[in-house]
Amino acid sequence: MEPAKEIWQSALGKLQIQVSKANYTTWLSDSQGLSCHDNIFVVGVPNVFVAEWLSKRLYPLVRKTLVDIIGKDIDVRFEIHNREQLSASPLATQTDGGTSSKATQYRFNPKYTFDNFVVSDSNRLAYASAVEVAENPGSSYNPLFIHSSTGQGKTHLLHAIGHLTTNNGLQAAYITAEQFANEFVLAVRENQVDKFRSKFRNIHIFLFDDVHFLINKKQTLQCFFHTFNELYSNNRQIVITADCSPQDMRPLSNKVKSRLEGGLVVDLQPPDFETRLNILRVKADTMMTSELEGVLHIVAEKVCENVRQLEGALVYLTAQAKLSGTKITPETINKLLTSMTCKQDIKLLLRTVADYFNLSAEELINKKRDRKTTLARHVAIYLMREGYNCTLTEIGKELGGRNHATILHGYEKIANELSINPTLSNQIAEIKEQLNSQKGYRAAYQTVQKH
Ligand code: ADP
Ligand code: MG
Repeated sequence: MEPAKEIWQSALGKLQIQVSKANYTTWLSDSQGLSCHDNIFVVGVPNVFVAEWLSKRLYPLVRKTLVDIIGKDIDVRFEIHNREQLSASPLATQTDGGTSSKATQYRFNPKYTFDNFVVSDSNRLAYASAVEVAENPGSSYNPLFIHSSTGQGKTHLLHAIGHLTTNNGLQAAYITAEQFANEFVLAVRENQVDKFRSKFRNIHIFLFDDVHFLINKKQTLQCFFHTFNELYSNNRQIVITADCSPQDMRPLSNKVKSRLEGGLVVDLQPPDFETRLNILRVKADTMMTSELEGVLHIVAEKVCENVRQLEGALVYLTAQAKLSGTKITPETINKLLTSMTCKQDIKLLLRTVADYFNLSAEELINKKRDRKTTLARHVAIYLMREGYNCTLTEIGKELGGRNHATILHGYEKIANELSINPTLSNQIAEIKEQLNSQKGYRAAYQTVQKH
C-alpha cells in the first residue's frame, strides 16, 4: 500500500473510535489518503460538502491523529477526489432509489440476536412484541415503539429484528436518528432530498433508533414523518426506539405523538438481580473462559443501573485478566467497580448521611443552607469522592446539579478540617461505620483506602 493510504487507514481506525458512528459513516468512511508531501497530508473526499464539513468540524482531531501517527507536525487538506469508488456519496452508496433489485444490505451486529437477549419481567413485553413484529411484520403492532433509559437493550432488539427478518428473506433497514439527520442535511445541500426520501421505499421493516435525537430538528423530523407515512400506508413494519415515551416528548405536537403511539408502546425496565446475573452469564460465555460464578455474582450485585455498565464491567475484567495474565481477584473487581458510578450505592450513601444528621436525602439535594444541612452536604460530598472516586461533576449531578466549584469547596472544607477537628473526624468515622455495615459501600470504600 502507498504510504499515504496506509497512514490514512490507520488514522481512520483511530478516528472511528473518537467520533460517533453516524458521523464516521457519513463523513469519513468514503475518504482516502492521497498524498503526504512537504508536510501536507491530502485526504480525498467525495464532494465539496464533505470537504467543508470535515474542515470545519473535524480538522483539529484529524490533524492531531495524523501528527500522532506520522510523528511530525503536518497540515491537512481535504480535496475532492472523484475516483470511481469515491464518486458515490455516503448517501448514494446506500441508495438505489428503490428501483434496483439489488437492495442495500444492512449489516446487523451478530451479537444482538433474540437468542442472546435475556428475557425477564423487566423486558418481557418488549421482547415478545419485537419477536411478533419480526415474525409477522406489518400485521400486528405498527409502529412498535420501544423506550427505556440508556443501555437497556433497545438497539439490541432492533438488530435482533433485523437478523430475523433478513433471514426470512425480507429487506430490513436500520438507521439511527443521528445518521438519518446527517444524511438528510447532506441531501439538502446536494439537492437530493427526493432521492434520500426514496431510499427506504422498498424496505419491509424500518428500524429507527433513538428518535428523540430529532425532537428539535424540525425539518429532519418532517422528512422522517414523510418516510414514516409512506411506509405505513404501504403496510411496512416500523419499529422506533427512544429514551422516553411519545407522551413525554414535550416539544412534539399531539398529532405527532399520537402517530408515534398509534401501534404499541412498550418499555424496558432496568433488570433485577437475577436477570443481571443471567445477562452476565450469557455475556461471560462469549468473553470469559474460566471465570467463576462468584465473580459474576459480585458484579451483578454491584452494577445495577444499566446493562451496558454491566457488560462494560465484564469486558474490563476480562481485559484485565488477559493483560496481566493473572486471575481475577475480589480486589480487581473492587477496583473496577469503584471506577464505575453505581447510583444505588450513592443513594444509599446520601440516605445514610442524611439519617445521621436527622435530615431527609432531599434536603441534602435541595437548596436548604442552614449550618447542619450544609455540613451534612459537605460530608456527603467528601464521602462520595473518597469512597467512590466520583468526579466533581458527577457529585454535582447527584446533588441537584450543583457546579464543580461548589463541590470542590465542600470537599476541601471537610478534607482540611478533618485533621484539626476531632468532632468532625468522629462523625465521619461513625458514618463510615454505618456505611461499612452496608454491603455496597464496604467493597468500594476499602479499595479506595488502599490506593
Ligand atoms: P440501548 O439501545 O437501550 O441504549 P443497547 O441495546 O445498546 O441499549 O444495550 C446495551 C448493551 O446491553 C448491549 O451490549 C446489549 O447487548 C446489552 N443488553 C441489554 N439488555 C440485554 C438483555 N436483556 N439481554 C442481553 N443483553 C442485553
Ligand atoms: Mg441504543
